[in-house]
Amino acid sequence: ESIRVADMIAPLIEQHKLKAGKQVDITTNIPENIAVFADRTHFYNILGNLIDNAVKYSGDKPAEISVSAEMLPNEIRVSVTDNGIGISDTNLQHIFDKFYRVPSGNLHNVKGFGLGLYYVKDMMSKHGGSVTVKSQPGKGTTFTLHFKN
Ligand code: ATP
Ligand code: MG
Repeated sequence: ESIRVADMIAPLIEQHKLKAGKQVDITTNIPENIAVFADRTHFYNILGNLIDNAVKYSGDKPAEISVSAEMLPNEIRVSVTDNGIGISDTNLQHIFDKFYRVPSGNLHNVKGFGLGLYYVKDMMSKHGGSVTVKSQPGKGTTFTLHFKN
């Protein structure tokens, strides 16, 4: 099913702002015409997991999150960037593992099972796509979903 990325984002933003219990600013840069071929529920959950993490691991400051989408010749990219606590290189290798949580992720009493990113990676591969991550400890993190165009 073809899903417009912009249509998915608005309800997700509302939902995560409401449950956050802290200041969360989310900006978007998603051209209206960009659509991905995916299962609607799974795509909603994939993006929801990334936004959930961006809020949860934002540390003590207001969460500033941006969601963007771009169409390239052979893929569609959807990225979620945060200004949160970041992830060190050694921990970055494990974040997609089932039940893995960065030890310091619990410091701010952040709850989780370590399943969100495992699900994201598994689902992206079932959609013929992938997920990549770039992070700088103390600065923030970007997760990028890659869909076949
Ligand atoms: P769950 O998603 O099952 O509720 P979780 O958030 O701990 O629990 P994942 O979403 O799989 O699990 O993330 C794994 C770990 O990666 C997290 O525990 C956290 O340490 C780290 N992490 C994930 N996203 C971010 C992020 N945006 N910034 C900093 N650390 C992150
Ligand atoms: Mg999570």
